[in-house]
Amino acid sequence: MGELGEYRRRRDPERTPEPVPAEGPLPRGDDDTFVIQEHHARRLHWDVRLERDGVLVSWAVPKGLPVEPGSPRLAVHTEDHPLEYADFAGEIPAGEYGGGTVTIWDRGHYETRKWSGRTVDVVLHGQQARGRFVFFRTGGERDWMVRRMDAPADPDWQPLPEAPEPMLATAGTLPPLAEDADWGYEFGWGGQRALARVEGGRVQLLAGGADVTAEHRDVRGLGGALGSTQVLLDGQLVALGAEHPTSFLIADVLHLDGRCCQPLPYARRRELLDALDLRGRAWQTSPWYSGGGADVLRAARDRGLPGVLAKRLESGYRPGRRSRDWREITGVDALQVVIGGWRPRAADGLPASLLVGAPDGTAYLGTVSAGLTEPQRHELAPRLHRAARRSSPFPAGAPAGGRWVTPSLHGEVVFEGWTRRGTLRRPRWRGLLGS
Ligand code: MN
Repeated sequence: MGELGEYRRRRDPERTPEPVPAEGPLPRGDDDTFVIQEHHARRLHWDVRLERDGVLVSWAVPKGLPVEPGSPRLAVHTEDHPLEYADFAGEIPAGEYGGGTVTIWDRGHYETRKWSGRTVDVVLHGQQARGRFVFFRTGGERDWMVRRMDAPADPDWQPLPEAPEPMLATAGTLPPLAEDADWGYEFGWGGQRALARVEGGRVQLLAGGADVTAEHRDVRGLGGALGSTQVLLDGQLVALGAEHPTSFLIADVLHLDGRCCQPLPYARRRELLDALDLRGRAWQTSPWYSGGGADVLRAARDRGLPGVLAKRLESGYRPGRRSRDWREITGVDALQVVIGGWRPRAADGLPASLLVGAPDGTAYLGTVSAGLTEPQRHELAPRLHRAARRSSPFPAGAPAGGRWVTPSLHGEVVFEGWTRRGTLRRPRWRGLLGS
């Protein structure tokens, strides 16, 4: 250690923006500063450099310094770098040694506990790297490993768990309009459910209890995008088109940088996920919408997607559970309608069913009784009486014997398609609009 010959041999100062100092006596420092550079080269790694005897003694650590004590990580001992390198960040041209992007991940002071040709035992005092780390040689000159010796600086730090069983939805229909604002809505993509465990820039993709990382090579780039962020993601593997590779569409975050996110409300987890800004060729954050379920359902139908997932905004993540807090809505569409008539219930005269039409009043669309709740019947009754009229407002098609009203009360239904006569198949009432 302590010579820059190999560093100079590997670099042409005409071709790389890296500092290449003139030959001469090495500067003298206090052997107490370090820098860690995140290096997006052919493979992402972190370069840990400790100032010692006028150079930066360096290791390339493929997964970065371990946050937790326990298993050591590979640390490839590389050539000494000049002290000036501690300030270097930039783009090394492709084709040059170490071609790729270098950023400064952390820097600070360190203390030496032991320094020999086989063991380097130091305490780092950085912003992100804080604690005691031991580098130890395991074989040839380049073969080293690094282990964290003390507990994480953050006492609440929780290690990244093994991937749990994903939470499941129950089949259902859109929540009533009165509850719409309590729900978040996502597109159902009809893909394969998968969890991604990302740590040290490396992705492990799990689906149906199997490791499918090797089958989705493009998704591995997500590791580089996340850098040192440690995360457990839930999503779907979807083929968006024949000419596209499979995309991982991410809808939830279960663990993030030492914190379990599962007890957090869905809306908060979605904020954390959105902040990660995951957008790549083979991965995307799946969009979500707070409220407006009918619009999301219509958009899903327009795009030919199999359906919509409704998730209660306040709900936590329950691994392996089929929960009523998540609803999978398939095979239905949503529509705005106007009430043109109704039929009373024999027992109490409250509305038993509603005769609905297109909002412009031009067509009768069918009779709706499913989905009407008791509070809705009580709310509707006085309004229907106030709007009473003698004749059907529909030009044609409405059944005889209804109680007719002026078409002024607008509502929303979900339905499973159209009959041959042009009426709604299996319509279900969601509620009055604007009430
Ligand atoms: Mn490097």
